[in-house]
Amino acid sequence: MNDSGKSAPRDPRIIPRPEHTISRDEISKSALKVLYRLHKSGYQAFLVGGSIRDALIGLHPKDFDVATDATPDEVKALFGNCRLIGRRFRLAHVRFGREIIEVATFRASASTNDADAELDDEGRILRDNVYGRIDEDVWRRDFTCNALYYNIADFSIWDYAGGVEDIARRELRLIGDPGTRLREDPVRMLRAVRFAAKLGFHIEPALARSIRENAALLANVPAARLFDEFLKLFQAGFAEQTFELLREYRLFGEMFPATEAEIEADPGFIPFILAALRNTDRRVGAGKSVTPMFLLGVFLWAPTRRLAAELRAEEKMSESQSLSLASYQLVAGQQRRVAIPRRFTVPMREMLALQPRFTVTRGKRALAFLEHRRFRAAYDFMVLLTEVGQFDEQLMGFWTDVQCQSREDRIASFQLHQKPRSNRRRRRRRRKGARSEDTS
Ligand code: ATP
Ligand code: MG
Repeated sequence: MNDSGKSAPRDPRIIPRPEHTISRDEISKSALKVLYRLHKSGYQAFLVGGSIRDALIGLHPKDFDVATDATPDEVKALFGNCRLIGRRFRLAHVRFGREIIEVATFRASASTNDADAELDDEGRILRDNVYGRIDEDVWRRDFTCNALYYNIADFSIWDYAGGVEDIARRELRLIGDPGTRLREDPVRMLRAVRFAAKLGFHIEPALARSIRENAALLANVPAARLFDEFLKLFQAGFAEQTFELLREYRLFGEMFPATEAEIEADPGFIPFILAALRNTDRRVGAGKSVTPMFLLGVFLWAPTRRLAAELRAEEKMSESQSLSLASYQLVAGQQRRVAIPRRFTVPMREMLALQPRFTVTRGKRALAFLEHRRFRAAYDFMVLLTEVGQFDEQLMGFWTDVQCQSREDRIASFQLHQKPRSNRRRRRRRRKGARSEDTS
């Protein structure tokens, strides 16, 4: 239990509907259905978390979390379209087409000696299934701005932790003692940075200090959970600002040690990373799709290139082979921190290993590159390198132009129209080419 939990007042500040700006138009129809059905069945039903926070600061919430005094089994009994998930936290997911409304039962704090709660040696919460009342639930939430409850019974907002004031001050504050709360769940450090970047809030000084002291605890977090967090950090449209904050608080190196080491060895790597993050943010802002493999490739690019050069110095191999091998080794190391699924690492490694092929603009093999299934990703990657002065502009122009050319024009561009050479010379060239070109 955190300190403030014990001494905290039990009565919330209740802000009645006429005194706040959250209207039901801001709330998804599905979330409203869940709230009303729980309420009509005699349970308490509140909207909680990010949706209330975002609506209060004028962002349009997209994700709705419900909190109730109904147990997961009681929720399941009310909704046909409901699945119970989770072990660490048991939750109900109520599905409406593609939308999922997450329904959580109020929980008491996890430090009780109850059999349904469990902490590890560092104080990290492993299991937290002790149900409780709303005035207990509030203290296990992370930030004050995330601990506001919107009551469907009368549309009022219940504020136990001073979240409304902190939102007005644009301040991110953990409920309770920051050190205790960060040790309970080190991912809260990443959440702090993510919300600071997204909301433009500042991290209050005691929390800022505590993050700096506890950054290394991220090493205790399962790598699979950090992959989920990685997606939220870098695909929410605020990746550039998030990256800056992660580095400022020394959290980035905990997630991407090889990238951080390379940045420290060669700050020339940063402009490329920033260009990629800006590009990602632009795409997210425009509603376009983004794939995590692209950014992961960006993060691992300079370390991969450095290791590839070392491998080539040790053993004779093509640049492309060395990039493929180096990226394999770097991915293996990276997985210990952030578990990246194979469906992303495989195309990512291909994208990196293909880069040398942009320097070859003559011949059939160069022409065939246009049809490679990873051409588009590799091309976008190369364009970004060019944008920051790390690849040749003329070559970039060549590969941009040939994509719109007709078959005949391409034959000219790749200089495939020359007079046929004698068979012997051609065979000799092919053998030589096979040795010096890559295998990807
Ligand atoms: P967003 O959905 O915009 O990322 P959110 O605040 O809704 O932000 P969720 O991860 O959806 O974040 O969690 C919903 C709520 O659950 C949070 O607002 C917070 O109250 C609580 N919560 C989530 N994760 C934690 C955590 N690690 N520690 C404590 N409380 C948490
Ligand atoms: Mg949410």
